[in-house]
Amino acid sequence: MTLLIDQSKKPTRYRSNEACVKHFCMARGCSNWGAFGIGASFKAGKPGQWFCSEHIAQAHKQLCTETRKPSDIPDYLLPQPVRARKARRERNFKKQQGVLL
Ligand SMILES: [Zn+2]
Repeated sequence: MTLLIDQSKKPTRYRSNEACVKHFCMARGCSNWGAFGIGASFKAGKPGQWFCSEHIAQAHKQLCTETRKPSDIPDYLLPQPVRARKARRERNFKKQQGVLL
């Protein structure tokens, strides 16, 4: 099922306290607090998109598939068999290139 994201529910700053950001779940029809953010960076001034625990998995699937390729994932986060396969492939490639003898 496709999650409909309501852009009108973007994070906003509280008028009473500019330091605090109000971010409810951006799934259409949901009124839960958005505890989980995607693409949010306080330092970079990016408000990101926020979702509740019910909607974060679907939102992540929809929003992160294109931006996050397997090659973007650092080695230490890969499961051990995947890491081993990657290392083997790189070793074979180097052998073919004549780097490793
Ligand atoms: Zn929600």
